[in-house]
Amino acid sequence: MKTIGIIGGMSWESTALYYEAINQGVAEELGGLHSAKIVMVSVDFHEVEALQTAGDWAAAGDLLADAGKRLKAAGAHFIIIATNTMHIVADIVQTKSGLPLLHIADATAEEIKRHGFTTVGLLGTAFTMEKDFYKGRLEQEFDLKVLTPDALGRTLIHDVIYNELCLGNILDTSRSDYLAVIKELETLGAEAVILGCTEIGMLIKQDHTNLPLLDTTAIHAAAAVNYALKS
Ligand code: GLU
Repeated sequence: MKTIGIIGGMSWESTALYYEAINQGVAEELGGLHSAKIVMVSVDFHEVEALQTAGDWAAAGDLLADAGKRLKAAGAHFIIIATNTMHIVADIVQTKSGLPLLHIADATAEEIKRHGFTTVGLLGTAFTMEKDFYKGRLEQEFDLKVLTPDALGRTLIHDVIYNELCLGNILDTSRSDYLAVIKELETLGAEAVILGCTEIGMLIKQDHTNLPLLDTTAIHAAAAVNYALKS
C-alpha cells in the first residue's frame, strides 16, 4: 500500500471527512483491521484565505509547495490537496514536491464520464466557478459542458462556504438556497451537479434532490484509495 500525503486544513471540517472516507475505503478493500497509510500537513486556513482574498496565488503556491515537500520528506508516495479551490496551485505543488499529485478535477471528470454525463453544473467557491483551472480543465481536457450559476447564485454559494460551512455551521435556510440554485442548473440542462467544494457535502446530500450529485470529497478520497492500493 502506498502512503497518501494529504495537504489538509482547507477547511479542517472537510479534511476530517477525507480522513474518514479514506480509512473506510481501505478497510472495505482490505478488510479486518486494515487502515490507510497517511501523512498529513494541515495548514492554518486563516492564512490561506487571506492570500486568496489578496489574490496572492504565488505566496499561496509557496505555502502549499512547502507542505508538499514536507509530505515527501515524511514518506508520502503521492499527494492529494484536500480542497478544490487550492488546485489553482496544483502544478507548483507537484513540481516543487517532486511527487505525483492526484488532481481532484481529473478524478471528478473520470466519475462524470463513467456515468455518461456530458453537461454538468458546478458549485464551488467563486475561484472554482470562475477561474479556468477547474471549469476550463473539465471543458478542455474532458470535453464536458460545465454550467455555473448566475452572478447572484455564485455569490450566494461562495459566501455560504466561507461564512458557514468552513466554520461547521449547517443551516436549513442555506440548504434551501443551494437547492434553488441546483434546480436552476437543472433547468439550464445540467444532467448532474458537481459539489465542487469539499464542504458542500455536509449541507447537500443526494436525498435532497433527484438530480445526481457528484461529491468531490468522496470522489477524491475514493481515487486516493484506489491509487494507494492498485497502481
Ligand atoms: N474546501 C473548499 C474547496 O473545496 C473551499 C476552501 C478553500 O478555499 O480551499 O474549494
